[in-house]
Amino acid sequence: MQNEFDAVVIGGGIIGRLTAWHIARSGQHTLLLEQHSLDRPEGSSRGTSRMFGEAHLEDVYYDLAHASRYLWRELERETGMELLHLNGGMDIAIGSQGLRSIKEVASKLRSRRCPFEIFDGTALYRRYPQWRYVSNAHAIYSSNEGVLRADLCMDAAITAAQKYNLSVRDNSRVTSIQERGSGTIVVRLSSGQEYHTRKLVIAAGPWAPGILKLFGIKLPLQVFQVQTVYFAPRRNSELFTLKNCPVWEWEGPQFVYGFPMFEKDGIKVSFHSEGRNLKNVREFRSTPNANLVRRLRAFLEKHLPDAAGEDFGATTCLYTCTPDDEFVVDTIPGLPQVAYFAGCNGFAFHCAPAISKTLKELVFGGKTDINISRFSSKRF
Ligand SMILES: Cc1cc2nc3c(=O)[nH]c(=O)nc-3n(C[C@H](O)[C@H](O)[C@H](O)COP(=O)(O)OP(=O)(O)OC[C@H]3O[C@@H](n4cnc5c(N)ncnc54)[C@H](O)[C@@H]3O)c2cc1C
Repeated sequence: MQNEFDAVVIGGGIIGRLTAWHIARSGQHTLLLEQHSLDRPEGSSRGTSRMFGEAHLEDVYYDLAHASRYLWRELERETGMELLHLNGGMDIAIGSQGLRSIKEVASKLRSRRCPFEIFDGTALYRRYPQWRYVSNAHAIYSSNEGVLRADLCMDAAITAAQKYNLSVRDNSRVTSIQERGSGTIVVRLSSGQEYHTRKLVIAAGPWAPGILKLFGIKLPLQVFQVQTVYFAPRRNSELFTLKNCPVWEWEGPQFVYGFPMFEKDGIKVSFHSEGRNLKNVREFRSTPNANLVRRLRAFLEKHLPDAAGEDFGATTCLYTCTPDDEFVVDTIPGLPQVAYFAGCNGFAFHCAPAISKTLKELVFGGKTDINISRFSSKRF
């Protein structure tokens, strides 16, 4: 078995897969290592849908999302798969503070010449009658948002990368990484198998703390168990189709987000950043929490009553958060040929193509197209 590669990527989530795509298509013989089965992801990238959006306040997130929109389209062209559906997205916020944040986003979108529309409570109800009227609601709609078919994105990244020079080993857990003086990195699996490379990218998701510990790096990362659930509309289901229902975020006393009916016969909803804080990823439980489902149903009864039919498909998943809700994209001190991504904070999927391109740029040359200085680990 070959054990020398131009580049090795650890982690078969969306960041690792897309990094492998970028590196392999630049002509490098690349190895992707994943501890679980590639067909049954167990990290943060599992599931069928993710939101895409460019309406970020901070320029760097806009830059990453905007660049990613074009890269998702490139991946679609390379694979013939439909990945990104730009059906629009809406942020709904409540009260005077909500209005201030909507105005702030609007001013950013205007300065970037991005299309948007603003609604007050009455206009929102008229345009989207599935939402119950709330007098002090404010909303902003942006057309550069929508749904990513997450499961297809995961498949597409591998399909595309394998057209170049990619080798994949799944069920292969990395347990040790060492530098051999001459710049060669030796990556060892739990089976004892070794691989040698001169470039290494680590995208280990919720397992990042364990793998970064191998380099003596300890970041303030917290792993959360979160949950999504589907509700089949009980009336007027046409109001919840991709055509009539943008993806949405409700920023009131609770932060709830949701998707139209798309890949399943129900809308998918979840609380953002609300879940069980795990001391260790091994505490993860796949059994959904019935109380969270009840609370989401109560939210729908109050605000999207026609959607509050039978619930199904509750699924648990993992987020890794930093104290400032910002990503970490960096190299290992003293090893510029080893880069890593950590701290997805629950929103890295949509900009994964650009994050992974940045990781590739870091290990091959050190200069990145997008300025990622705010993601440095030195801030902790
Ligand atoms: C419920 C939920 C909803 C979300 N919604 C959105 C959304 O709407 N929009 C959005 O943009 N983002 C969203 N996110 C966030 C997004 O899904 C994540 O940011 C993204 O999937 C992170 O991908 P990753 O590759 O960094 O991590 P992961 O997908 O966790 O991949 C890491 C991989 O590394 C492997 N690994 C770890 N250690 C080792 C080792 N030692 N050896 C070999 N392999 C190893 C793991 O097995 C895993 O497969 C959501 C996340 C969740 C959980």
